Amino acid sequence: MAKEKILISACLVGLNCKYNGENNENPKLIELMKEKDLVPICPEQLGGLKTPRTSAERKQEKVITKDGVDVTKEYQKGAEEVLKLAKKLNIKKAILKSRSPSCGTGEIYDGTFSHTLTKRDGITAELLKKNGIEVISSDRYV
Ligand code: SF4
Repeated sequence: MAKEKILISACLVGLNCKYNGENNENPKLIELMKEKDLVPICPEQLGGLKTPRTSAERKQEKVITKDGVDVTKEYQKGAEEVLKLAKKLNIKKAILKSRSPSCGTGEIYDGTFSHTLTKRDGITAELLKKNGIEVISSDRYV
């Protein structure tokens, strides 16, 4: 039987796509790659942002970098690209990096750059959920 396909935040499986050019490699998720067909995606890169890039947070309806640049369009484009791929591959589940303004599910930073969390989803997590895709936080694998 074919392995279940699951979207995964690319930084969680060791790709250096994080804003600072590093990654969030998680040994449990590397192990999971043996059982499941994990499909790595980085919405921020898919939205056209370069790596490294200035960190950003959701602030009301926008996404703003630490130095005040509005990157909402890039974040939205990245989310749409991820959804497009999920639909093409008929993927129904995603494991996404906690607290990211793109990938976070349930809680993310609040837009004040003070490490304060708020109960909200990142842009990509939100769009995937709206389209019936189950989003699981990487915190479940720590
Ligand atoms: S957008 Fe998601 S996949 Fe890309 S670096 Fe941020 S948390 Fe990782």
